[in-house]
Amino acid sequence: MARYTGPACRICRREGLKLFLKGDRCYTDKCAFSRRGYAPGQHGQGRKKLSNYGLQLREKQKAKKMYGLLEGQFRATYERAEKMRGITGENLLRLLELRLDNVAYRLGFGASRTEARQLVTHGHFLVNGKKVDIASYRISAGDVVAVREKSRASEKFKVFAENPKTLPAWLEGTTADFQGKVLREPTREDIDIPVNETLIVELYSK
Ligand code: SF4
Repeated sequence: MARYTGPACRICRREGLKLFLKGDRCYTDKCAFSRRGYAPGQHGQGRKKLSNYGLQLREKQKAKKMYGLLEGQFRATYERAEKMRGITGENLLRLLELRLDNVAYRLGFGASRTEARQLVTHGHFLVNGKKVDIASYRISAGDVVAVREKSRASEKFKVFAENPKTLPAWLEGTTADFQGKVLREPTREDIDIPVNETLIVELYSK
């Protein structure tokens, strides 16, 4: 599946905040945003105030890059959210959170969503006992996401097992058990990403 392959740190600098796209490096003093917290390019340090459209666009770009989607995939997710009952912006974030690559990341299998996605596409996970290697696979409440038996002995998964993450309230499990369960779909309060989804809806509603 197509994905953005350019420099991740450039995205943080463009969006004006740390998006934690590079895993462990993001927590060190090598973080490019910590060192140069202004937009990339020749005019990066002299940016003007954004128009309404500019604000909406930046918010959409931020969400899209955080979850590692390209425009077509993000738009398709938005259109799906629009058809669902409830608030479109919240539906959008919920659909993004319920992607298999994101659930694997939230469970602690991956220092970043990019790494979790790679682990998914390399076939390291089972969903309810069946192998799934599609990063965009939509997880539902009650699903169990587990690391395949033969992947558990790998160094990478041993490191995850030794460094468990604090899970959001809608997930249960530990990396030491190599699995987690989706207790319920996340609400907006559960989703800690710094995005104003209303601006994304305004942008796509034009
Ligand atoms: Fe963003 Fe991480 Fe790069 Fe820092 S190191 S700029 S948080 S991707």
